[in-house]
Amino acid sequence: MRKNIVAGNWKMNTTVAEGLELAKAVVAQSKDLGENVSLVVAPPFTHLVSVAEALKGSKVSLSAQNCADKASGAYTGEVSVDMLVSANCTYTILGHSERREYYGETDAKLVEKVKLALAANLSVIFCVGENLEQREAGKHFDVVKEQVANVLFNFTAEELSKIVIAYEPVWAIGTGKTATAEQAQEIHAFIRSVVAEKFGAEVADNMTILYGGSCKPSNAKELFACPDIDGGLIGGAALKAEDFIAIAKSF
Ligand code: PEP
Repeated sequence: MRKNIVAGNWKMNTTVAEGLELAKAVVAQSKDLGENVSLVVAPPFTHLVSVAEALKGSKVSLSAQNCADKASGAYTGEVSVDMLVSANCTYTILGHSERREYYGETDAKLVEKVKLALAANLSVIFCVGENLEQREAGKHFDVVKEQVANVLFNFTAEELSKIVIAYEPVWAIGTGKTATAEQAQEIHAFIRSVVAEKFGAEVADNMTILYGGSCKPSNAKELFACPDIDGGLIGGAALKAEDFIAIAKSF
């Protein structure tokens, strides 16, 4: 049985104090959440240590939003996987479209990052997704297949059990536009078939595939009801504990 996950990507939002308050509210409101869904929050790096304290003893896991592609050393401004583990992270997001688009994150760099994360025993939320131009040209299946193949095909089936895929159509991120449940289900099933082709049906069946892109309390139920959608990577709506928890309760 694969895991359902709702993960909140806080991006570059909140001060440390605001983030701590948000984390505490998420913990308080997650107490009556069922066992059928796991929660993850991904605050900015500066917040990790204090948010980890707030999450202690709760069901909420801590994620980073990125990690360095090098293990340690003279890489000014970077944060290593060992640093993340020492801050009590158990996940890191990798390959978010904003990192790919604004910070030149290539598939080759992502392979290095995923390698380091897995070696440090961090689980990875690996993001894929097409932009509007690619969707309109009907290239979304090819784009997503290439992103999965270029990075994840470098790993073993066993390593894949520590990886969650987040399908995030770039045209739906932060735009208020959501993929329809049909569009999302169609491409989630396709991603699962790509994983199955390479790693076999069992690995694909066990793979958690999240939807991301303007997911909110009003549309989460319909999206999560789809057979190949196993939760969400939530941006804007993760900044309000009520909305984030309402999304998690949509299963
Ligand atoms: C995201 O960037 O991961 C995301 C899904 O953002 P939003 O929910 O704001 O579209």
